Amino acid sequence: MKRGTEMRNSENNEVKLNDSLSSLNDDTGYRTPIFGTETSGAAMPKDKINDEPVAPGVAAEMIRQYLSVEGNATQNLATFCQTYMEPEATKLMAENFEKNAIDKDEYPMTADLENRCVDIIGKLWNVDKKEEPLGTSTVGSSEACMLGGLAMLFRWKKLADAAGVDRFTKRRPNLVISSAYQVCWEKFCRYWDIEMRTVPIDLDHLSLNMDTVMDYVDEYTIGIVAILGITYTGKYDDVKALDNLVEKYNKEHADMPIRIHVDAASGGMVAPFIDSELEWDFRLKNVWSISTSGHKYGLVYPGVGWVIWRSKEALPEELIFWVSYLGGKEATMAINFSRSASQIVGQYYMLLRNGFKGYKEIHERTLEVARYMASEIEKMGIFEVLEGAEQIPIICWKLKDDVKVEWTLYDLADRLRMQGWMVPAYPMPENIKDIDVQRLVLRQDFGMNLAILCINDMKKQIEILNNSRVIVPNNENGDNNYVSKGFDHSGR
Ligand SMILES: *Cc1c(COP(=O)(O)O)cnc(C)c1O
Repeated sequence: MKRGTEMRNSENNEVKLNDSLSSLNDDTGYRTPIFGTETSGAAMPKDKINDEPVAPGVAAEMIRQYLSVEGNATQNLATFCQTYMEPEATKLMAENFEKNAIDKDEYPMTADLENRCVDIIGKLWNVDKKEEPLGTSTVGSSEACMLGGLAMLFRWKKLADAAGVDRFTKRRPNLVISSAYQVCWEKFCRYWDIEMRTVPIDLDHLSLNMDTVMDYVDEYTIGIVAILGITYTGKYDDVKALDNLVEKYNKEHADMPIRIHVDAASGGMVAPFIDSELEWDFRLKNVWSISTSGHKYGLVYPGVGWVIWRSKEALPEELIFWVSYLGGKEATMAINFSRSASQIVGQYYMLLRNGFKGYKEIHERTLEVARYMASEIEKMGIFEVLEGAEQIPIICWKLKDDVKVEWTLYDLADRLRMQGWMVPAYPMPENIKDIDVQRLVLRQDFGMNLAILCINDMKKQIEILNNSRVIVPNNENGDNNYVSKGFDHSGR
């Protein structure tokens, strides 16, 4: 037995030796270390494809090295998107990369998992099966919002025609939304030539202003978008209050009722587990569609999203397309066609693996860490916390009005970036543009240990900023004076 193994080994060695001898100048020779190969030192193609192939190991390592300088995803506290999945999930997803999610006839089991996800998520959002809800997976919330918006537009066209509203010569249709919208809604309005009516937010109304929202509505309004987890501040729009206002409006405008789409990109997969009492979903009569990002608090790597309509009536049939060229007759209602099935499989894995309790525990823990950070930031004394992770694990703050520091939140963001932390600062939207805020978004892989580290770094960097001086020439002779001065970020 032992001899046999030795023999095989020596045979192998011979073969390999011959291999590498016959390809002495060949980078693919297994004996050449990756960083000893000629190609590993060669320039990576920029605008013209290279003539010769590169060995896979060398190519992968070159790219890995190149990407390695951009910072790590765990410290990226700017994004809602998942930066961690369990190895079992990653493996399972990798095993399904090659399956095209659109080939439902070829991959009926994958299609079945997608349908299960729609049903499970619909149930979390309290659909009523009797109303025959419909839904689909998407690449993310952007595509899901686009579809929700299109359904509103097509429903409005029908209502407008029936009510004798001139759709062609007078005015464009409009969409009502808070000014703190995510950019996908701006895209939606521009792509489909819809007037975007933004309800300004202000410091007293950091989400959709219920006192004024209905002033923006008229017979050209295709719908109102409520946001569960406003991009700028992390706040939830008060969907229940909105539903009441809309209900009152609809009583007086029975021929052109208004419906609500809830953009629940972040909150849609948090609220059902954390605030099950909160009524924001299909429990409300006028909520006709809801979208979410599976890759945010649905806990899947990008990109997967979901959109669900409460009933058949909510999704005009013009938006359902039937294709036969994949074998079998299949309905498609998404904008994208081909994409990997792995994200759908990943979403189903997360639902199965975590169950209700698992999601709840993960979100509670993340919220706990976020609330700890919010309280620490508050304690620093110079910040006003606008959102302290009350509903989703987001913290948003500004400098107190009366605080005297010679630096801005942009300077702090830069200093934190030097330590690897990505904590963006940005101006608030229209109306309160002169207010700068800074935002932290926490995810499951950002535990208490990292939170403490990050807070300590924040304190250290603030100390450095407080003591920093910038030298500026302040007279014609060019004499330098030490002048304390914040950096100019007007270009941002
Ligand atoms: C993230 C986000 C979107 C866009 O979602 P993607 O999944 O990145 O396309 C839309 N709306 C809100 C409120 C968001 O937070």
